[in-house]
Amino acid sequence: MTPPDTLIRRQAFVGGLWCDALDGRRLAITDPADGSEICEVAHLSREDAKRAIGCAAEALPAWRARPAAERAAFLRRWADLVLESIEPLAKLLTREQGKPLAEARAEIAQAAAFLGWFAEEARRVYGDLIPAPRADRRTLVLKQPVGVVAAITPWNFPAAMVARKVAPALAAGCTLVLKPAPQTPLSALALAVLAEAAGLPPGVLNIIPGEAEPIGNALIDSHAVRKLTFTGSTAVGRQLLARSAATLKRVSLELGGNAPFIVFADADLDAAVEGAIESKFRNSGQTCVCANRLLVEDSIYDAFSARLAARAKALVVAPGLAPGSQQGPLIDQSAVDKVEALIADAVDKGARVLTGGGRHVLGGTFFQPTVLTEATADMQLCQAEIFGPVAPLYRFHTENEAVALADATPFGLASYVYSSDLGRALRVGEALQCGMVGINVGAMSTETAPFGGVKDSGFGREGSMYGIDEYLDLKYLSLDLSAR
Ligand code: ADP
Repeated sequence: MTPPDTLIRRQAFVGGLWCDALDGRRLAITDPADGSEICEVAHLSREDAKRAIGCAAEALPAWRARPAAERAAFLRRWADLVLESIEPLAKLLTREQGKPLAEARAEIAQAAAFLGWFAEEARRVYGDLIPAPRADRRTLVLKQPVGVVAAITPWNFPAAMVARKVAPALAAGCTLVLKPAPQTPLSALALAVLAEAAGLPPGVLNIIPGEAEPIGNALIDSHAVRKLTFTGSTAVGRQLLARSAATLKRVSLELGGNAPFIVFADADLDAAVEGAIESKFRNSGQTCVCANRLLVEDSIYDAFSARLAARAKALVVAPGLAPGSQQGPLIDQSAVDKVEALIADAVDKGARVLTGGGRHVLGGTFFQPTVLTEATADMQLCQAEIFGPVAPLYRFHTENEAVALADATPFGLASYVYSSDLGRALRVGEALQCGMVGINVGAMSTETAPFGGVKDSGFGREGSMYGIDEYLDLKYLSLDLSAR
């Protein structure tokens, strides 16, 4: 196992070297559990980003030309090193992000799973031979790497989001420049330490923590960068997409969600409560697929809400590294302020607090697991992505009403349906406007399935056999057999 300190890097990783920002700037990284400083990390800007793009462009021809089996072997070695270092990586992740250690371990395992999955997919990038329109012609289709990729990742999954983008890009033969979230660069840099140990050639993957907008603009404005993959808010995603028009970049956007969690009266109530706890309170409610609106059929509304409140109340709120912690702190003070304001607005408009409702006695950014009943569509938390441990319960009477309520949002990422009627579950699952539906399942992210959304939740898919297509261009060769 790797000793924890050897995985902490305070510098950026550019062209195979660990380096400071050109202007020497650094940013303090803090532990959200107590606000203490973990360390300072190089804080790069526009000129550094340009240099990193140059390194990725220079490394591209050789990486692209490697046999797929070699790229696969590298990814497999990297996955194995990540798994061997799961403990120190998970602890580092919890320190910079706050989530309970058990969740951090699961996230590191998921990061390794993405690396392993795309090691396998690297060898399955097949072309086609299409029957040609004339006897003397042949039509060959090749899949080729798009080129240099820019990746921008968020703070809620500091390791898994990195692996989910880097693994398919490297498998396809692309090189990357990745900007991690300013709150959580340490996990991305630690993954780079292990990539280096696994034999990553210089410049193939560059990690540049730093100033969001100048770096983002440099990446997007560069003609050398042929693809942008972004996970974050819809507002920022929209800006990045608009700016990408100038260079006609390929773009994948995994943006915000407003997941409905529909519980029908015929559902197994215990399973529905457990699913809701998993979907709502994982990562303190800070995931884009978290249940944001719990829609519960009228006849079981009181029973479900009482059971959910009892389960939520029993969750152990504690620093992520404390034994038994089930809910850590929120990422920062503004997250707490936002959640508080959403609850105040809901209560003002008639919601009832069944449990929680405010800051936790632990202080800092700890927040009580909260269940609200009598939520209605006019409340701000019906449209906003809550990103906190607050479960608002809405009431419905019919299947059609449930689907209409579920879809009454510009977002379309994840949805959840709990019912023991398979026909109904499939009917509703097919009808919902979103990219993913959990049917009697509260957590469904896996490297084997296509993750992504529709409408304001963006486009593009990550993971599965489809994920690598985001990093491949089709080229067709038309061949005249009679020509000399
Ligand atoms: P969140 O609210 O979850 O922090 P953001 O969309 O603000 O979501 O951030 C997601 C990622 O996008 C982070 O890495 C952040 O630094 C980056 N980011 C934010 N604003 C910009 C921008 N204008 N240009 C490029 N990247 C940005």
